[in-house]
Amino acid sequence: MEVSFSKEVQSLRLGAGDTFHGEGILAITKGLLQSGVAYVGGYQGAPVSHLLDVMVQGKAYMQELGVHVEACSNEASAAAMLGASIHYPLRGAVTWKSIVGTNVAADALSNLSSPGVTGGVLVVVGEDYGEGASVIQERTQAYALKSSMCLLDPRPDLGVMVRMVEEGFQLSEASAMPCLMELRIRTCHVRGSFACKDNVSPAVSTRALMAEPAGFDYMRLAHPPVTFRHEKLKGDQRIPAARRFIVEHALNELMPGDPHAELADLGIVVQGGLYNALVRSLQQHGLADAFGDSQIPILVLNVTYPLVPEQVADFCIGKRGVLVVEEGQPEYIEQEIATLLRRRDIPTPLHGKDVLPAAGEYTVEVLTQGLAGFLDLRPLPLGEGGREGSARAWLDGNRTRREAVAKLLATPLPNRPPSFCIGCPERPVFSALKLAQQDTGPVHIAADIGCHAFGTFEPFSMGHSILGYGMGLASRAGVSPMMQRRSLAIMGDGGFWHNGLLTGVQSALFNGDDAVLLIFKNGYTSATGTQDIISTPSDAAKDRAVDKSRSVVDQNQTIESTLKGLGIGWMRTVTTYDVAAMRKTLTDAFTSDFMGLKVIIAEGECQLERQRRIKPWIAGLLQRGERVVRVKYGVDEDVCNGDHACIRLSGCPTLTIKDNPDPLKVDPVAVVIDGCVGCGLCGANAHAATLCPSFYRAEVVQNAKWHERLLHGLRSAIVNALRPAEPPVPSPSGRGLG
Ligand code: SF4
Ligand code: SF4
Repeated sequence: MEVSFSKEVQSLRLGAGDTFHGEGILAITKGLLQSGVAYVGGYQGAPVSHLLDVMVQGKAYMQELGVHVEACSNEASAAAMLGASIHYPLRGAVTWKSIVGTNVAADALSNLSSPGVTGGVLVVVGEDYGEGASVIQERTQAYALKSSMCLLDPRPDLGVMVRMVEEGFQLSEASAMPCLMELRIRTCHVRGSFACKDNVSPAVSTRALMAEPAGFDYMRLAHPPVTFRHEKLKGDQRIPAARRFIVEHALNELMPGDPHAELADLGIVVQGGLYNALVRSLQQHGLADAFGDSQIPILVLNVTYPLVPEQVADFCIGKRGVLVVEEGQPEYIEQEIATLLRRRDIPTPLHGKDVLPAAGEYTVEVLTQGLAGFLDLRPLPLGEGGREGSARAWLDGNRTRREAVAKLLATPLPNRPPSFCIGCPERPVFSALKLAQQDTGPVHIAADIGCHAFGTFEPFSMGHSILGYGMGLASRAGVSPMMQRRSLAIMGDGGFWHNGLLTGVQSALFNGDDAVLLIFKNGYTSATGTQDIISTPSDAAKDRAVDKSRSVVDQNQTIESTLKGLGIGWMRTVTTYDVAAMRKTLTDAFTSDFMGLKVIIAEGECQLERQRRIKPWIAGLLQRGERVVRVKYGVDEDVCNGDHACIRLSGCPTLTIKDNPDPLKVDPVAVVIDGCVGCGLCGANAHAATLCPSFYRAEVVQNAKWHERLLHGLRSAIVNALRPAEPPVPSPSGRGLG
């Protein structure tokens, strides 16, 4: 990974007397070190990648503290790492993207939760929900409920978030329950400050080793018959202990509001992570001031599981109505509160999903609308207060503006789907796949998670299913035996190591499946932030490359040797930018007599990472006055026939259109704008698909040699001599200038 987090690593070193300024997720990382965490692991994914990225780059400092950092191969291995805390007084933290990561980790989490933990355990999950999310919309809460793990959902305030990390470890130790901490996208990126404490070196660490392993204790195994006892312990001891801790340490916050306010007899119970949006919507209603002080009392659940029934009941008793603000579905918290109120015969009217939407992010606008509904149902005894007028006017104004915009747009704006980076090595493969299917007919394509999922968008629109990270090959197992044509499964190198090797390749080989697997070998887990994997070329290999601008992924053959070791009988490696070769290889794989798994390694370094790697190198060459050649592609506008087949076959953002310079032609011509990284796809496509010959390849030479300058001067002189004289410029009246 070429991105540097050195500034972030420095901020982890802050101590007592210092003030931390920055993003929420980095504050959480600092909180882990202040808590004496002994080991940290995880699998990268937005919005929590930063935690692990910074820890991995800060390994030297972690070693000073004695903290072990492990970049795990997937979330299951990260969760299994927490087994260290079952016997030993080791505090451990792992992180991943949820819900998908928690799904992968679920087996180990169940087996951890059953025996319970000795050292505190904190699982920091990025709750990738709502606007900007990139995964299935489900809730992590379900896992906390089913496995009896505490679930922290801290109020997005850096001081509170760090306190919840510190107290989260203690809560885990007090209850023997692992703690999950869910952080929504906005919480991870909220900025602020907090007063630091010194980092704590763990008592047992990589610098202070244990002399002996723990004694044998069958109760610590997730194995019958003790699993039956574990289940009882959860209800009889662990959850009550967690509830005591939550109350004694005031983990949930009561914002009493103004006791003299007209609406002080209402109440709101909110998930901690939604607090900021709730306060902003109360402000829209004129029910909170600029400092966030609300007129309606609020119970902020920084711990959403387990709830403390007495705490919630005390809050609700005597209120004219209580609103539960709980994002997503199903409404676990609201249902639990309804049950606990009913069991205590508390008649307080309860609202939640009756006025708020069941699905989707609770933005300020959504909450303002929901609050309006709540206040409609629970108006002041003498009628509606004038305060809400401003919120309703704001909501009406938003609606009116949207309607006006919709009217102005006679035809809707075209979608702008996300796409591969400029020069991405994966784009050419989809061009080749388009062409190969012209030869063979359409095939079933089992897509996967990763940058290559951009191939599901225009202009390619390829992929019949996405079943999970690394699951492409496994997900075609039921399809390929039913198809006349061979199926294609796609996988990235990240997905291959995450899961695909075992769930897909091993299974296909074991069952003798006849299918085609295409592995994108770009060298990194690019979609999650270009983190390194076992098949990433080493720094030494990158340095060894004579031409440092060329792709270096061929320097690591771990994928190929692994597949060979497993017994793959048909394997081809193709450079992704060679569209004609890739087309031929795909066609061969679809039509080969070889019955079994055929693997195509599509080799090409992630362009984003390549550019990060070569830009400083080029800058160095230029600074030293050395010769630098930059390749650029272009379109000869006089030759372009305007049918745009090249664009339909590529989708590169720098290959676009402009007005036709020929006044007699109306169709726009193709143009390559600045930003082209000269990946060569334009030329390769033109060749493989026999497009019109309008593309040209140019070399921009900086710090050219003397003979190049001389040659350039000669060529320019000849071209100028051959150029016809400029026609006379017509005068405004249409007559030539004399
Ligand atoms: S990050 Fe790399 S692999 Fe992903 S789209 Fe960009 S260039 Fe392609
Ligand atoms: S050569 Fe073509 S596909 Fe490659 S970066 Fe340039 S415009 Fe994009």
